[in-house]
Amino acid sequence: MNEMTQKRPGRIFEITAVSNPRIKSIKALSQKKNRDQEGTFLVEGMKLVRDAHENGWEIDTLIYAATTNDNTQVADLAAKLRVAGSDILEVNEKVLSSITRRDNPQMVVGVMRQRWMDAPKKISDPKSVWIALDRVRDPGNLGTIIRTADSAGAQGIILVGETTDPFSLEATRASMGSIFNVPLVRMNIEQFLKWRISWDGMVVGTHLEGATDFRSIDYSQSPVLLVMGNEQQGLPDDLAATCDKLALIPMHGAADSLNLAIATGVMLFHMGKKLPALES
Ligand code: SAM
Repeated sequence: MNEMTQKRPGRIFEITAVSNPRIKSIKALSQKKNRDQEGTFLVEGMKLVRDAHENGWEIDTLIYAATTNDNTQVADLAAKLRVAGSDILEVNEKVLSSITRRDNPQMVVGVMRQRWMDAPKKISDPKSVWIALDRVRDPGNLGTIIRTADSAGAQGIILVGETTDPFSLEATRASMGSIFNVPLVRMNIEQFLKWRISWDGMVVGTHLEGATDFRSIDYSQSPVLLVMGNEQQGLPDDLAATCDKLALIPMHGAADSLNLAIATGVMLFHMGKKLPALES
């Protein structure tokens, strides 16, 4: 970075009142409509804020409780972020709890910019796998899928239709930092069906009425787009019809289906597209 493009250091504020306007607008980010409007979101805890910074995400504001036991680490992080341009808000526990709506809040909260990617173009690496999630509803499922996709080396996730917000506190918590490492794309169903025509690889949907045992498919020859259905309704007919194969994970027991995040994990790790080898 040269001098011309270098950001000015952020400012430091001490805030003790829950009614402070800046705190009020940060609190408002617990609602999706405000996150959408501002294009920002909240992230809780040292680990997540640090992961975000290390992955090059822009952090507008760092909020921390001055009473924290972990002062050196927090001060260190605050100093780094300030140089990178973040404002630093030093608050008390009451203010912090009011932001996170938790009695024992994590001592650090970051406000950062959301990041959405464009749909992937021409993918030819046969080791690539993208995931399409149809109207995923549960933030815990979405965060867990982001974490699992990251661990399995998937290239990214397409959120199709009305989905839960990946930038909610619940989803970012469940992603355990992987949200900063997995590209996210959003499309409505029409955009998805149109874009799918340009996808050169195999499209594998998972379906409880799937005709193919997931273990009998050869995933190695081309990139794979893995399509997962909604928690309550499964894949709708138009999405199922766009798949080259509908895979079933056969099950024992009384449950009629697997949890969405578990089913996604089973598929990704079975394909083993980009899993690193164990060092001997
Ligand atoms: N009642 C829903 C249905 O009828 O499909 C259950 C949906 S399930 C909780 C969520 C998604 O996980 C499914 O749409 C499918 O994509 C995937 N899934 C769960 N269990 C599966 C299995 N045994 N075989 C294939 N896909 C499965």
